[in-house]
Amino acid sequence: MRIVLLGPPGAGKGTQAQYLANTYSIPHLSTGDMLRSAVAEGTEIGKRAQALMTSGQLVSDDVVTGIVAERLTSLECRSGFILDGFPRTLGQAQELHRILRSTSSPIDVAISLEVDENALAKRIEKRVMDAQAAGETVRSDDNPEVLKRRVAEYKAKITPVADYYDGLGILHPVDGMREIGTVSATIDSILSGTRFSNDSGQRATARSR
Ligand code: AMP
Repeated sequence: MRIVLLGPPGAGKGTQAQYLANTYSIPHLSTGDMLRSAVAEGTEIGKRAQALMTSGQLVSDDVVTGIVAERLTSLECRSGFILDGFPRTLGQAQELHRILRSTSSPIDVAISLEVDENALAKRIEKRVMDAQAAGETVRSDDNPEVLKRRVAEYKAKITPVADYYDGLGILHPVDGMREIGTVSATIDSILSGTRFSNDSGQRATARSR
């Protein structure tokens, strides 16, 4: 089960990815989380990514595909994964295809969470309040100014990515404005009708797995 989750910042990708990871026992791979860890650890990649992330710009394709490729070809991803926040550009989608070709296991389904742009700022505000209430560190890019830039980046780059998956016949837009549980149930029903490739490239539905 190889799933890509698309959606602007605040669309609920992290929440739905976590739900899917728990339900289907597959790893949740968030490139944002990987990059934040690299920044926290002060690695070379972290140093290159930090300023771009803080200002809401995308990190370069080669840096992001480099960190994701290592995980995708590891044992933990043998039976599948959920990609959250990747790919974000057509170049990343094409590189992802190339990486997976080496494992004979293409992306099975791309879910695009569609959310009214006006709702995003409120959702990010809530995320900040929840983090503060839990005593967690607030993300440096979760503020109104940077959010505008992140949404603009998303809108500027995502159409060719969505078109790419649409062309493969695997794109499913989902109304992300509904309750969290309703969104999860909608995704479940899409997955139950999807034919998934197994490790040897054969395809089966979620129900018959
Ligand atoms: P996220 O946690 O997905 O909202 O990502 C936070 C930030 O990490 C983004 O604003 C980008 O700066 C960077 N980032 C995460 N994923 C990618 C990606 N696939 N391509 C480029 N930059 C990314």
